[in-house]
Amino acid sequence: MAARILVVEDEEALTTLLRYNLEAEGYEVEAVARGDEADTWLKERIPDLVVLDWMLPGLSGIELCRRLRARPETRQLPIIMLTARGEESERVRGLATGADDYVVKPFSVPEFLARLKSLLRRASPERVATILSFGDIELDRDKHRVRRSGRQVDLGPTEYRLLEFFLEHPGRVFSREQLLDSVWGRDIYIDERTVDVHIGRLRKLLNPDGEPDPIRTVRGAGYALDEQFAKAAE
Ligand code: CA
Repeated sequence: MAARILVVEDEEALTTLLRYNLEAEGYEVEAVARGDEADTWLKERIPDLVVLDWMLPGLSGIELCRRLRARPETRQLPIIMLTARGEESERVRGLATGADDYVVKPFSVPEFLARLKSLLRRASPERVATILSFGDIELDRDKHRVRRSGRQVDLGPTEYRLLEFFLEHPGRVFSREQLLDSVWGRDIYIDERTVDVHIGRLRKLLNPDGEPDPIRTVRGAGYALDEQFAKAAE
């Protein structure tokens, strides 16, 4: 699944340039032009990485970065800060507030992409792994194959994507809305109950003989891969 990048930048030309180049690399790109809007956006969903300009209307990039680091859900979120030339002391401030990397404008796009890629790799090695495993479940991305205790499990395309998404974020709880956003895509309107239907199917296919259920239902919150399950299967 493509990594989702949020670009928070008020210079339209730069946003366009970044979007074009990131999409060409296969990333999914969302863009917000105001700091306060980005703050709201990030309370509703969490991308894989944020590119954050430090001078923004509404709320500065520095302040937004500080807020993101203060919230448990976004404490680990990879952030690349964009700063203008000559803001050396600001750069230091950027790092002090918790950005993982900073890039000085104007920058070379290939260098920017290389740094973004390396940050993503460091932050979520699961994303680039060929085989994802969790307890006795193994998903092979190259072969598009899922096994449980060595037995092959045939999943439909949606169940496969759901499982892949869970395996990329073991233990993390996702609301039905977040799952719809990430697995089905944000532009499609689908009822949230659809998620329950597909989770049900995924469970049935993974546990046909009443094996322990790897998916945990979190009442009022959503679903997660159960970390107890992985421990028990070890
Ligand atoms: Ca700016």
